[in-house]
Amino acid sequence: MEFMAEFPDDEACLQQLWRDRFSPDGVHADCPKCKTSRVFERYATKQQRQSWTCTACGRHLHPTAHTIYHKSSTSLHLWFYAIYLMTSTRCGISAKQLERELGVTYKTAYRMFQQIRSLLEEDIRDLAGTIETDETFMGGKEKNKHANKRFGGGRGAVGKQPVWGAMERGGRVVARVVPDTTKRTLLPHVIERVMPRSMVYTDEAAAYDPLTGMGFGHKRVHHAAKVYVEGDVHINSLEGFWSLIKRGIDGVYHSVSSKHLQSYLSEYAWRYNHRNDSESSFRTLLLRAARR
Ligand SMILES: [Zn+2]
Repeated sequence: MEFMAEFPDDEACLQQLWRDRFSPDGVHADCPKCKTSRVFERYATKQQRQSWTCTACGRHLHPTAHTIYHKSSTSLHLWFYAIYLMTSTRCGISAKQLERELGVTYKTAYRMFQQIRSLLEEDIRDLAGTIETDETFMGGKEKNKHANKRFGGGRGAVGKQPVWGAMERGGRVVARVVPDTTKRTLLPHVIERVMPRSMVYTDEAAAYDPLTGMGFGHKRVHHAAKVYVEGDVHINSLEGFWSLIKRGIDGVYHSVSSKHLQSYLSEYAWRYNHRNDSESSFRTLLLRAARR
């Protein structure tokens, strides 16, 4: 209802896209030919072309060009509604649910789903302060799914995909699919994504041994000794994030192939990282769609 009030039809969506992409006031835009701000008008044509025209030189601007909406036979209204659905639920929805809600074919729903998800990708490389870092295993075949329930134990369960993550206390999170959990794989992730001199909390995984010598603060929790918290040394926030994702996979998707696991992780990280935004996630994503 909220969505329909704001965007009752295709035209309302196109007007929004025009403003987001080219013309904050809906009238003026920078003309690439005149190389200055001009008044643009939308002339009605037979084809109902989705373009605005510079009143000084006649140059056209097409709001949908080179966006995810470009050359799509799906209406802008359905695209906006899909973005609304994917951002207004707390744990996300699947392509299958999109298919039902939009009344489009699964193929179309799936394509839209992937495109909208691509807007959620963000590569965070400047985590600072107190950082929790950890690995876990996700996805994999149904029959192996419950083999690795406990954290810190049974690492490397068959058919599961290793995932590495780092989280700022009270801040942002990053989660990446990794090929394995060796030192050679994990250390570069810490070095690339965590600012030097940050305090890094890990479990006893040997992969993190060199951190101290590399200019990071480093403290460990000893899961093997059943110590999960020592003062403020713990990785419970990140482990909470892992369980949130795992519950999501069980609830929404049943299972996730390793091919799609990264976009799934990115979607969860995005939700987490934007949890305190003053703008709605819907609004943020509309802007991204307009500016990419
Ligand atoms: Zn012009």
